[in-house]
Amino acid sequence: MAQKFKPETLCVQAGWTPKKGEPRVLPIYQSTTFKYDTSEQMARLFDLEDSGYFYTRLQNPTNDAVAAKIAALEGGVAAMLTSSGQAANFYAIFNICQAGDHFVCSSAIYGGTFNLFAVTLKKLGIDVTFIAPDASEEELNAAFRPNTKALFGETVANPSLDVLDIEKFARVAHQNGVPLIIDNTFPTPINCRPFEWGADIVVHSTTKYMDGHATSVGGAIVDSGNFDWDAHADKFPGLCTPDESYHGLTYTKAFGKLAFITKATAQLMRDLGSIQSPQNAFLLNLGLETLHLRMPRHCENALKVAQYLEQHPRVAWVNYCDLPGNKHYELAKKYMPNGSCGVISFGLKGGREDSIKFMDSLQFVAIVTHVADARTCVLHPASHTHRQLTDEQLMEAGVRPDLIRLSVGIESVDDIIADIEQALKA
Ligand SMILES: *Cc1c(COP(=O)(O)O)cnc(C)c1O
Repeated sequence: MAQKFKPETLCVQAGWTPKKGEPRVLPIYQSTTFKYDTSEQMARLFDLEDSGYFYTRLQNPTNDAVAAKIAALEGGVAAMLTSSGQAANFYAIFNICQAGDHFVCSSAIYGGTFNLFAVTLKKLGIDVTFIAPDASEEELNAAFRPNTKALFGETVANPSLDVLDIEKFARVAHQNGVPLIIDNTFPTPINCRPFEWGADIVVHSTTKYMDGHATSVGGAIVDSGNFDWDAHADKFPGLCTPDESYHGLTYTKAFGKLAFITKATAQLMRDLGSIQSPQNAFLLNLGLETLHLRMPRHCENALKVAQYLEQHPRVAWVNYCDLPGNKHYELAKKYMPNGSCGVISFGLKGGREDSIKFMDSLQFVAIVTHVADARTCVLHPASHTHRQLTDEQLMEAGVRPDLIRLSVGIESVDDIIADIEQALKA
C-alpha cells in the first residue's frame, strides 16, 4: 500500500483491508489467545517457521494492522506497537545494544528519554555519549568508539524544539557502520519522513499527535529495512548470529529486511512484554485516520500564536522553528516544508514568577502534563517536569527557568489568542 497511495489516503485506508463479509472498521481483537487445529500447527509458530497469531504478548491482529498503517506512513518495511514511547525507545536501543556497548545521542531530547539513556541503560551496562544537536561532523565522529552501535536524535526536540540535521547525522552514522534512529514524534510522518533523509529506524510516542486526543499512551518502532546489518555483522551479533532461544535461527538470514522488527517482537516483546493493548491500538487508529487533517491545522495555529507572541511587549522571547528568524528556520524548511508541529515555547519579561502567574490566569487553555493533542495546553517545565533541577541544571538541559511550553491545539486560533491575551494582561 505504501508505494501506491499518498499519506492522506494511507491515514484513512492503510493497515486494514477487509475481505468479503468482514467488518468495514478495524475490529478490536480483544483476545489473549488464538485457536489452532493441530499441535503441529502451533509448534511451527513457536519455532518462527510459520507466521500467525498465538498469544497477544507477541502479536495481535488489531495491533498489527495499526503498525502496518504507521509503517506505510513512514515508508518503512515493518513496524511494531509498544505500550508507550518510552518502551519504543528502550526496545529500539536494546534490540542492538547489550552490556558493554555504547551509542551516541543528541543532547536535545525528551527528558524521559534522557533519563532512560543516561541512568537506566547505564545500570544495564549500556553507555551513552550526548553531543550537541548542532555538533559538526568532526565532533560527531569523535564521539564514536569501537563498541558504538547506534546514533540517536529527535527530528524536533521536546521541549527545546531544536531541529536535527537528519542528513548529516545519517552520513556520520553510516560512516561509522551504525544505524541512525530518529524519534519522529513531533512532526509525525505527515510533516517529515526521516527515511527519505537517510534515517534507518524511526520511533514514536504515539501518545502525542498520532493518537491526537490524549486517550492512550503508546509507542511505535518502524524499520526502513535499509540498514545492512550483515555488512557490519561483528557489531550486531544479536541480528547476525544464531539465536539459541529459537533453535539457532539467525534473524538476518531468516527474515532479511524484516530482521530488526522480527527480533524486537520475537525476543524483546516475548521477554519484556510491553505490549500496547488492542483497545488502545483501536483508539490510536481512529486518531491516525485524521492525522493528515489535524497536523496542518496545528501548524497554522501555532505559527499565528507565535507571531502574536513575538510582537507582544510583555514577551521576552519566542522559540518556534517555523518562525522566520528562528535559529532552526532553514533546517525546519528543509525537512518540514509544510510546517513542523504545534509546539512553541516562550518566556515573559517578568521571568519565572510571571510565567506562573500567566499560566494560572489562563481560562480554557489548560495546565496539563501533556503535549501535542487537539486541546491547547501549557506546561512550565521548571515548576513541573523538571522541578528537581536547579536554574543552572535547567540551562544545561536547554530549559530556561522562564520557559513556558505551549502546545497549540486545533480550536479557533482567535479564541486561543484571546485567552493568551487576557492572561498576559493579568
Ligand atoms: C512523550 C515523548 C516520549 C515518551 O513517550 P510516552 O508515550 O510518554 O512514553 C518520547 N519521545 C518524545 C519526543 C516525546 O514527546
